[in-house]
Amino acid sequence: MSYTLPEKLKNLPKYDPVTEIYRVRLDANESFLEMPEEIKKEILEAVSHVEFNRYPDPNSTKLCEKFGKLFHVKPELLTAGNGSDELISIIVPNFLGERDTMLTILPDFSMYTFYTRMVGARTEALNKDENMEVTAEDVIEKAAQVNARLLVFSNPCNPTAVTMGREDILKIVGAVDAMVVVDEAYMEFSEGSVLDEIENYDNLIVLKTCSKAFGMAAIRLGFAAANARITNILKTLKAPYNVNSMTQAVGCVILGHKEYLEKCAAQIKEVTREFYQDMKTLAERKKDIQRLYPTETNFLYVKTERSDEIFEALKKEGISIRNMNGYLRISAGSKAENRELVQVLDRLLQ
Ligand SMILES: *Cc1c(COP(=O)(O)O)cnc(C)c1O
Repeated sequence: MSYTLPEKLKNLPKYDPVTEIYRVRLDANESFLEMPEEIKKEILEAVSHVEFNRYPDPNSTKLCEKFGKLFHVKPELLTAGNGSDELISIIVPNFLGERDTMLTILPDFSMYTFYTRMVGARTEALNKDENMEVTAEDVIEKAAQVNARLLVFSNPCNPTAVTMGREDILKIVGAVDAMVVVDEAYMEFSEGSVLDEIENYDNLIVLKTCSKAFGMAAIRLGFAAANARITNILKTLKAPYNVNSMTQAVGCVILGHKEYLEKCAAQIKEVTREFYQDMKTLAERKKDIQRLYPTETNFLYVKTERSDEIFEALKKEGISIRNMNGYLRISAGSKAENRELVQVLDRLLQ
């Protein structure tokens, strides 16, 4: 017997989510809001009606209806996923052939490139400028130059917190010969969604998640919105029972609470704005903070040469954030948590 692993499975780059227990968790861009008791009760009631001996609805029909109503999208143009992570893992390898090229715009969410390995596809990157911006023209030119078949980016961007304007996005979608995936995981905190444009293009997929503004990271639920042709392909590619019955039941409850969800997003936005202001005041006094980026998300992106030290020092205080090699990404927590973070930084920095 001599078994050797396929080359692509050797030295896999790991996505390293925080697994240690921290007192203050500002590392995963989760919502800091807790689910109200009344809604929790409705959820328990809904889960109690799940038929545990049966497979889930493969099309998550009711869930797509609820989500479609909330976002004014036809439910038949939605594909539900076990988090938008699952949808990314389906789209990236399948919309690329061997030796095809995917274009990313860096820095961006790291999971996009991971799946290209599985099909032996190539990735090319366009780097953002000092302001963490690129122009539509830059993207279009680069896509043509590398013959990109797939272009994936988040808008607003994780980790930079910066948003690209709707007109620029549509200009790109209209000009490139690639499938364009716009990951709108944080769009509830910003504006300029292209969700209403999916039927106007042959090459547009918009990803949404319930994990961020809606505070439902635990149930793993995301959606892909695209025209009928693409949606048909996505539904064929996904595993038949990808969204479990409990998630479907819970998702239906929560997505039915429009006002609550809007309130959550507004509250998180407001707390992030205050957090940004406090950090800005701090940054004006501390030369260690080279730059604080404007944010249209629920996190801050900070440029500092001392990112490693700060990251380690915060860890010792029981606070976890993301260290990104000269930059820090800090999720907005509760007011008290954000204030504590600013105070600790005030002590640590020069
Ligand atoms: C958090 C995040 C996701 C993952 O969302 P899930 O639905 O929880 O899998 C996808 N894209 C971006 C840019 C994110 O920040």
